[in-house]
Amino acid sequence: MMSYLYSSLAQRETEVRERRQRSQSLSDDLNFSIDHRFLDEDSSLNEGHFVPPGTPEENVPLNPDSQIEDSDEVDFDNDVVDMSFPARAAEQAEHLVRRVLEEAEQAEQLVRKVWEEAWKVCHFSSLPRWLQDNDFLHMGHRPPLPSFSACFGSIFRIHTETGNIWTHLLGCLMFIGVALYFLTRPSEQIQWQEKLVFTAFFAGAILCLGMSFAFHTVHCHSEKVGKLFSKLDYCGIALLIIGSFVPWLYYGFYCEFQYKLIYLILVSILGLAAIIVSLWDKFSEPRFRSLRAGVFMGFGLSGVIPAVHYLVAEGWVRAIYHASFGWLCLMGSLYIIGALFYAMRVPERFFPGKCDIWFHSHQIFHILVIAAACVHYHGISEMAMSRLTLGECVDGAMEDDQFMYIL
Ligand SMILES: [Zn+2]
Repeated sequence: MMSYLYSSLAQRETEVRERRQRSQSLSDDLNFSIDHRFLDEDSSLNEGHFVPPGTPEENVPLNPDSQIEDSDEVDFDNDVVDMSFPARAAEQAEHLVRRVLEEAEQAEQLVRKVWEEAWKVCHFSSLPRWLQDNDFLHMGHRPPLPSFSACFGSIFRIHTETGNIWTHLLGCLMFIGVALYFLTRPSEQIQWQEKLVFTAFFAGAILCLGMSFAFHTVHCHSEKVGKLFSKLDYCGIALLIIGSFVPWLYYGFYCEFQYKLIYLILVSILGLAAIIVSLWDKFSEPRFRSLRAGVFMGFGLSGVIPAVHYLVAEGWVRAIYHASFGWLCLMGSLYIIGALFYAMRVPERFFPGKCDIWFHSHQIFHILVIAAACVHYHGISEMAMSRLTLGECVDGAMEDDQFMYIL
């Protein structure tokens, strides 16, 4: 009895071991087949009757008790695994995953598009801290729009930045048009020296207005983008001031090469200093609003030094008729008034929540900047015309030629 039991147990143990070996072998073959399918898309697996090398077709008869159900993919009659089953399964799974990913991507794009078009303006208190700039503007703020297409799409929506964006966008386009007209005049009308010095002014104006437009458009994208573009915006202001100095100094000290050079170096150093300060990370914070206005006002007002120099050397009459002093003073006043509006946040300070969309200080500042740039263009054009009537310098022609070489 006992011996029968022992032999029965031993037989059972052998059977279990054999089954384990068969299922391990089958599992290995299935894995190999799937791996092979992924490695080589064009493999003959696609033909439906691929038998990977080394498949133990004869050595691994399938156990009739196996969990694998009868199907087209498994040939029980021959006790051979048709490996097209896992290959097709892998292919179908891959296809399914690809479709799911494609549909998820389409759904994401749809959600993003709907969201980009459906955003609503919000209250100042709903803005994240990095977007909170002017608390006198209550409603109509753009929420963060972390996509450049949404930011540029917001140009056509009404919000607190609409006026800021369009004033400097149109101003920029206007100066591009004027610059193209001016620089394409034949040399009989405008000489290359004139074109060169006016280019400094045009470049400053176009860069300033263009960067300002870009800043107001994308500063709601994210804190990082907002900070970067605010720095570019301030650098643009410094470039406009430098560009405005160049033609005035060129014509104002036309026959005074040394002074011209000294003042140009001075302006360049001050401009560089303003740019370096602008690149300071905290410079764009609301608490430094007055400092910003002060830095650029001070830089612009440094023009008083060469202006007083000219006045003392040439007198009032020449200053007004040959150095456009009237236009110069008007330009300076417009910039100063604009900077004061900007720094004091007038009129929204007196009417909180009433100037959210139109007529707030930043828009007025933008319009005054464009007006000042137009006045300056007119002023330096008059200086250029006046220079034509005065003729070349009596003894300074050579010096001026030297200056043009340096330019
Ligand atoms: Zn601005």
